[in-house]
Amino acid sequence: MADADADRLRRPAGAAPAKLSAPQQAMRRLGLLRDIDLALHLPLRYEDETRIAPIASLREGEPAQVEGVVSACRVEQRSRRQLLVSLHDDSGELLLRFLNFYPAQQKQMAPGQRLRVRGELRAGFLGREMVHPTVKPVRADTPLPQTLTPVYPTSAALPQAYLRKAVGAALARAPLAEVLPPQAPPPGLPSLREALLFLHQPPPGTPLGALEDRSHPAWQRLKWEELLAQQLSQLQARAERARLQAPALPPRAQGLREGLLRALPFALTAAQARVVAEIGADLAQPQPMHRLLQGDVGSGKTVVAALAAATAIDAGWQCALMAPTEILAEQHFRKLVEWLQPLGVSVAWLTGSRKGKLRTQMLAQVASGQAMLVVGTHAVIQQDVGFARLGLAIVDEQHRFGVAQRLALRHKLDEQELEPHLLMMSATPIPRTLAMSYFADLAVSTLDELPPGRTAVLTKVFADARRDQVVARIRDAVADGRQVYWVCPLVEESEHLDLQNATATHAELSAALPGVRIGLLHGRLPAAEKAAVMAGFTQGQTPLLVSTTVIEVGVDVPNASLMVIEHAERFGLAQLHQLRGRVGRGVAASACVLLYTPPLSESGKARLRAMAETGDGFEIARRDLEIRGPGEFLGARQSGDALLRFADLHADEPLLQHARALAPRLLASHPAAARAQVERWLAGRAEYLKA
Ligand code: ADP
Ligand code: MG
Repeated sequence: MADADADRLRRPAGAAPAKLSAPQQAMRRLGLLRDIDLALHLPLRYEDETRIAPIASLREGEPAQVEGVVSACRVEQRSRRQLLVSLHDDSGELLLRFLNFYPAQQKQMAPGQRLRVRGELRAGFLGREMVHPTVKPVRADTPLPQTLTPVYPTSAALPQAYLRKAVGAALARAPLAEVLPPQAPPPGLPSLREALLFLHQPPPGTPLGALEDRSHPAWQRLKWEELLAQQLSQLQARAERARLQAPALPPRAQGLREGLLRALPFALTAAQARVVAEIGADLAQPQPMHRLLQGDVGSGKTVVAALAAATAIDAGWQCALMAPTEILAEQHFRKLVEWLQPLGVSVAWLTGSRKGKLRTQMLAQVASGQAMLVVGTHAVIQQDVGFARLGLAIVDEQHRFGVAQRLALRHKLDEQELEPHLLMMSATPIPRTLAMSYFADLAVSTLDELPPGRTAVLTKVFADARRDQVVARIRDAVADGRQVYWVCPLVEESEHLDLQNATATHAELSAALPGVRIGLLHGRLPAAEKAAVMAGFTQGQTPLLVSTTVIEVGVDVPNASLMVIEHAERFGLAQLHQLRGRVGRGVAASACVLLYTPPLSESGKARLRAMAETGDGFEIARRDLEIRGPGEFLGARQSGDALLRFADLHADEPLLQHARALAPRLLASHPAAARAQVERWLAGRAEYLKA
């Protein structure tokens, strides 16, 4: 890649009048912008093209490269049309067989042509053969490559050969000098430069095992570098935050918060009281709070949020609460109005569907500070929403939001030098090892207790063939005055099919349950209708609600005691747990039926088993992590792009420990080296770590 190309790649999106070629665009999408990014883009595996084996020495099932001359090339019609090429060298003969081929290939392999061929030998019907080997026409003096051939992770639009060339050129140019002091790395590992050159261009004869399982010292060096960069960037983020100023929001005696506590129809659980105190202590500080409140579904996070909001409002500042869906935002709005309006707090409601004059009025109230609490969806962070004095921002189901959105919320306080406090809430707990390494910069409060009187939800796993039994159960529940959710799965990438499924199920249930009012809720409904359907269910006129996953988060209808999840095998574990959390909120014994359509995959089985065996969100998260691994578990959204590329938190624990111990010392003694290390590994991603 020429430097001019590199420059064009570096230009931010939208600013580039120059056209990027398809492979250039693909490189950019993979985040391969700088030479160092390419140098740190490491092979998945290698192919050995450095050696030629005599044909006679080939063993069945082992990949090998041979070179020989074509003695015959013919097309035959057997069970299907195929191209058969006979190749010989001094030691013997081999048949190459191609089931799909182009006329050009046929020409390339004409008799007399010398070919270099890579593939696996097998004993075929016609003797020793390779099926679909890689073939390269060569001359007798065509040199062999001097290194193993790297195979890189790539995308369809970016051919290996192009990427190999780009990486090779970048390696030659990239500044690979050590930025760390010599005593920093664990002993016995090669320098970064040595490690990179080795991993991109291993010399012939390098045993592939240690490279491919990433245990080779060169890999150890890379993983340690990465872990160190990540630890350093989190320390930096923490230090930066400590320098930021936020409005101090000390508790006020006999204020709104006390008033709310007195007015609540229940007493806080011990866990809620503890968490409220932790949040209160943060809010009283002149540094912005950066706290995650995690608590299982139904553990009562909303009231904790309301008390935090009350504290901010008591201190004379505004509070914003953002939820990922309109249904959830509306539910919060109702709850908060019910709790806080009688105490004199004006609550504003902002969503995408509220437009025109009403919206203008709302915006004016938010801008003047007249609206003290603002509840809504993403609409809360739109450009035109200006707060008078935003002191506290609360994000519910925070993992549903992108990092950029959380950042936007933090930037909603216009006053120079001041940031609002940030409280994030989530029902998907983060296991401790992950919290340690990804969220070192985050304070965590945990609600580890459910409000009293909750009944465990009995979970049953049924094959879809037993649908009739399930419908009979619904009939009984409805006759008893209970309410029922029936959840239809998300059909990947097709909102349309989604809708079809839900509509078909609605029709089926309507036929099977005459006289029962059945609501239908899905993402495509206009907001007003959605709200009407939801209200019908919340207020109890509709006993059965057929829904897509729009009800997944936070919906709270205590009288609902049965949930049926159709095609449960298609859902993720965290999502199933969230859904199930919609029942078991009232006094009635509750049940959840997971319907599946066989055959189940291994991980599908493991997920459904976990659901049947435990109702504990932390245990579910642990199993989920086990089934999916940390990368999948966190997902790009939650982690920003900051997920580790090479290191594995479990397998590389000793390297992680080393990096964790070194990072603070390095930051203190060699701040410039620490900055260079973060820049090298995480440039452009650092913002994400702070969100
Ligand atoms: P989540 O943590 O899933 O957001 P919610 O805040 O929606 O849970 O609370 C679930 C239900 O429990 C609500 O109906 C709420 O009013 C009720 N609740 C919360 N705290 C208590 C408590 N201490 N005692 C009794 N009920 C409570
Ligand atoms: Mg909630």
